[in-house]
Amino acid sequence: MTAHLPITTSVPGGSVSIDPVKLDRLAEVAIKVGLQLQPGQDLVLTSSIAALPLTRRIVEHAYKAGAGLVTPIFNDDEITLARFRHGADDGFDHAAGWLYEGMAKAFSNNAARLAVRGDDPSLLSGQDASKVARANKANSMAYQPALEKITGFDINWNIVAYPETAWARQVFPGVSDEVAVGKLADAIFAASRVDGDDPIGAWKLHNAVLKARTEWLNGHRFHALHFTGPGTDLTVGLADEHEWMGGASTAKNGITCNPNIPTEEVFTTPHAQRVDGYVRSTKPLAHGGTLIRDIEMRFEGGRAVEVKASSGGQVFNKVLDTDEGARRLGEVALVPHSSPISKSGLLFFNTLFDENAACHIAMGQCYADCFVGGKTLSPEQIAAQGGRVLGVVLNRRRFYIPAFLYQRL
Ligand code: ZN
Repeated sequence: MTAHLPITTSVPGGSVSIDPVKLDRLAEVAIKVGLQLQPGQDLVLTSSIAALPLTRRIVEHAYKAGAGLVTPIFNDDEITLARFRHGADDGFDHAAGWLYEGMAKAFSNNAARLAVRGDDPSLLSGQDASKVARANKANSMAYQPALEKITGFDINWNIVAYPETAWARQVFPGVSDEVAVGKLADAIFAASRVDGDDPIGAWKLHNAVLKARTEWLNGHRFHALHFTGPGTDLTVGLADEHEWMGGASTAKNGITCNPNIPTEEVFTTPHAQRVDGYVRSTKPLAHGGTLIRDIEMRFEGGRAVEVKASSGGQVFNKVLDTDEGARRLGEVALVPHSSPISKSGLLFFNTLFDENAACHIAMGQCYADCFVGGKTLSPEQIAAQGGRVLGVVLNRRRFYIPAFLYQRL
């Protein structure tokens, strides 16, 4: 076993330490559970410079697992900000299409994809909003060829988190950077199930539990879910021939992987026309530097006809007005209160974590995979079965609303 020195990252006013043993376990879990990287398989890896302590360990474990070639692509917050502060206006409609075409080509040749995330949730909140929107639009259009291979689950892919300082400051305000990063690291390790001695075994067990839940739900072929709680009485009709998914699943290249680490949810596709009643979110939603609190929505025939929030309501409504599909559900997910993320009581300002704290609904496009035989269905067939396929929200990302207090099946 390789001996690792404590990780020391310099921050203003001191340094921070992250448990190197648990960090190494997280890297091993990303490769062996998250990706199930195969001998000879190439890997395209994106990371920030700040996450290097984790990213270097991931690369080590990738080569130990027999990786062909690992290609890292790095970004940096200061470099991103330099563009917004000093870049010529014309430049904000450009994106690195050549890079994404190359990534798409790598995925066509069966390269796996891994993203290390630890971004500052409000990095661009002080920048010109129209420049941010233009840059995002150009980027998402250029990214499309590569993204389609990920959303279509052509290849095994994984996202894993690293406690970067700016993110830690938001999750744990009012303490020193050193303390905040240490606390966020511990929260990530617990949520990612690498805080015990046998994380690979823990994930095997966790995947078995999630699979048993999906099989129970699929066996019952429920027509609808009924959620009740303070401010909530919502009936979510389920799409015809819907299928519940959760935990490890098999990509089209035949490799079974865990795309999200952590993950606690089982999820499926609601019927785009059969959602009625009202719902109040129990957690704030962090979106592009805006915190949207106390979301209340009323649904009629699948459409969110009334939407308000105690703060961030304007931003939220603007997102829902992106197109017609944005006001209909693309996902409904069940998460038990016993999940480590729910029990932590933390708001992570990061969907990868926050969507696993509570049952939730997501607006916009549905997963083709959440149908019986979904991999072979055309968009028209999915729409005929009640799946929401036309809504393109937030650059094709779903919009998560961690909501609800109680579940009644
Ligand atoms: Zn979800």
